[in-house]
Amino acid sequence: MKILDLPLSRSTVDRAAHIRNDVAAVEAAWHRAEIIHFDGVGFLTTGSSLRILRADQITGVGERVFLGMQGDTSYFLWCSEEKLGSEEEYKTLREISSELTSLEIGLAVHGQAVALWHHKHPICAVCGLPTDPALGGAIRRCSEGHEHYPRTDPAIIVLVKDKDDRILLGRQAVWPEFRFSTFAGFVEAGESFEQCVIREVLEESGVTVADIHYLGSQPWPFPQSLMIAFEATIQDPENARPDGEEIVEIRWFDRDGLYAAIMEGTLLLPPSISVARAMIQAWYGVDRPALPGAETWRP
Ligand SMILES: [Zn+2]
Repeated sequence: MKILDLPLSRSTVDRAAHIRNDVAAVEAAWHRAEIIHFDGVGFLTTGSSLRILRADQITGVGERVFLGMQGDTSYFLWCSEEKLGSEEEYKTLREISSELTSLEIGLAVHGQAVALWHHKHPICAVCGLPTDPALGGAIRRCSEGHEHYPRTDPAIIVLVKDKDDRILLGRQAVWPEFRFSTFAGFVEAGESFEQCVIREVLEESGVTVADIHYLGSQPWPFPQSLMIAFEATIQDPENARPDGEEIVEIRWFDRDGLYAAIMEGTLLLPPSISVARAMIQAWYGVDRPALPGAETWRP
């Protein structure tokens, strides 16, 4: 398969680091910016779009994050728990992502990831003093000058195939009945992506990876992951078995079997914003009709 076109990897803005480094330029940009609001859970929306605010509409205590430029327009996130609209106008990224433009997706994914990081890092991990946002909200810094950068946790996600071009999907214990997906796991300290793919597939499904191809990556700000996607071919499909802890059930599918299982209600695929869904659809055939059933089961 070729590199995937992934639903959350659609950012169009220039992050404009030269503005971040200039306090006066950040301040000037704020006063003419288009500003989106994240309340720690959801975004302020209007209809099927993010609602754009101006600096003079912003009230209360919160943090500004410079998200970048597109043409002459600068974009910021305003992060505060205090709402600037009605409860119903706040929607989570999972709820609205399928309706947003590429510009909006880029702003929301960047904004959510960095806002959740700010919220969890009020204290310097080096000296214990309070930290404050700096560089337009791109980092945090304490009064001793220790700098902290937004944390991103890399996780591999892998479509396991056998030599007959069947795919292996697994079900986690915490998922609803019939929900199956591809295998995934966090990259551990000192581990390469490739080593992580081999380890995770063996641990979770018992099979040995023989060949790996990179398929793409997308941010997954729930709260701070970056999903790195691969397909892996295995030679020992007869060894497939769930680990019994994280994965409680596994199933091999060919294309007709996958479609039949969805239609008979014994297979629920992952939601449309996920890398897993994109990998499964790409294997099924990008010129074939979109596979049915992609509702998210998380808020
Ligand atoms: Zn410090």
